[in-house]
Order: sequence, then structure tokens, then C-alpha cells
Amino acid sequence: MSILYDSIFSSTSFFQSDAWIFSVYIIVTYEIVFWLCNSFLIYIELFDISSIDQYRIQKHKKKLRFQPDIIRLMIQQTIHNQISFVFLTPSLYYIFNYFGHVDIQGVRPLWSTILFQIGLFILSEDTIFFWTHYLLHTPWLYKHIHKKHHVYKQPTGVTAVLSDPIEGIVTQFAVWFMPVLLKETHIFTLCLWVTIRVYQTVIAHSGYDLPYISTQYWLPELMPGALAHDFHHQHGKWSYGSFFSIWDQLMGTHRLSTSKTATK
Ligand SMILES: [Zn+2]
Ligand SMILES: [Zn+2]
Repeated sequence: MSILYDSIFSSTSFFQSDAWIFSVYIIVTYEIVFWLCNSFLIYIELFDISSIDQYRIQKHKKKLRFQPDIIRLMIQQTIHNQISFVFLTPSLYYIFNYFGHVDIQGVRPLWSTILFQIGLFILSEDTIFFWTHYLLHTPWLYKHIHKKHHVYKQPTGVTAVLSDPIEGIVTQFAVWFMPVLLKETHIFTLCLWVTIRVYQTVIAHSGYDLPYISTQYWLPELMPGALAHDFHHQHGKWSYGSFFSIWDQLMGTHRLSTSKTATK
């Protein structure tokens, strides 16, 4: 054990290694995107701004306002997440290099390559997420694993982090399956992927049908974003997808909240 400890921490080699650079890039990207989006969502949840409040989806309910119970739960879950990131991200680097290779120091790939790979990541994540999420709503798995994510029927960005550790592993599998399978990726592409995935999940939990910055504003049928995931939390079923509504439409589980209806 001490030999392992010495080889990792007592020499400076680990902190100059590609595994260390990879971990720093991935974790810092995650933290910046997560907290930038959530700072905005926490601000609009705490203060009444009528020009933004009009876009709240569940207007028939009071704002969450971050009561002590939600703050305690969020701090607890955020600490758990940060600790697991510190240990799991270097492992991800070794998984990448076991199956293929991550380019850390090389020149950024062409944009056509980056966009093609990101497209594959999104399609793969959306499919794995839909089916694992669909299964997590079967009675036994819901009761023992997924219920923890459904504590709040009225979601807000930070509630995206609520999950059982097993669900956390399933989610990470959905996110990283295609990048690992591709065998040859660049750290820039992976950081862009983390940015897109974190933004998507935080905005889907925002509780707001915001114009311009939400996918449903541009592609309401194909990418219903917060309108689909808010409906999912409000009812505890239906709309299981992440990026797209395709699987939900095929499986007959496509349902949306309508912020316009809520204002009537
Ligand atoms: Zn669910
Ligand atoms: Zn959710």
C-alpha cells in the first residue's frame, strides 16, 4: 500500500503526468460550467425578477427559495460528488488508455472531427441514458436506487446532482461509453463534451422554459429539454430521454410541461 502511495504522491511524476493534466482539465471544466449555470439559477430562484419569473414552468407552486433542508442535501451531495471526481477521473484516464488513447499534448483536431465525435457522443449518451433511465423507473430499481433523484417534484439546477452512487456510475457509463469506444480522442473534444453534457443536464433541471439559452426554444419537438424533464420530475414518470425526444416518441412516453398553460 505504501509503495502505491509513494509511487503516486511522493514523487512529483504523477503531478506532471498526462493522467494529472487530464483530471485537472475534466474536473475544472465540469466545475466552471456547473457553477456558472447554477449561480444564475440560484440567483433567479432567490430573487423575484418578473421578466424571468414569467418563464417558470410550475408557476402554480411557490418558488423553492432554497429552504434549509434543500441546502443541507445539496451541500452533502456536492461534497460526495467532488470526492468521487477526485478519485474517479484519473481512473477514467487509465480506462481511456487501456482501450485506446487520449491526446493530451497534441494539436487540436479539425472542427469537422470534433463535431463528428461530439455528435456520436450525444447520440450514444441519449440512447444509453433513455434505456437505463426507463429501467430505473421499474418498481424495484426506483424504490432502491432512482427515488433519491426524485426527492423534488419541482427541480432546480443543483438538484441534478442528487443520485444514488449506483445511478452515478450508470450515468458516467452513458457519458463515457462512446468516447472510450472511439479509441482516439483529444482532451479538447472531451472538455467540450463535458461542457455540453453538464449544461444540458443543469438547464433540463432549471425549472424554467428560458428563451434563447434552452434547446426547446430552438427545437421544441426534437429537444424538449426542461419542458420534458420538468414534467418527468413533476409526475415521477414519462419523458425519460436526455438530449432528444426520439426514444420517448417511439416508446409512447413523450410528455411535456407547458409553461404557457401554467400561466392561464
Ligand atoms: Zn427519473
Ligand atoms: Zn432529473
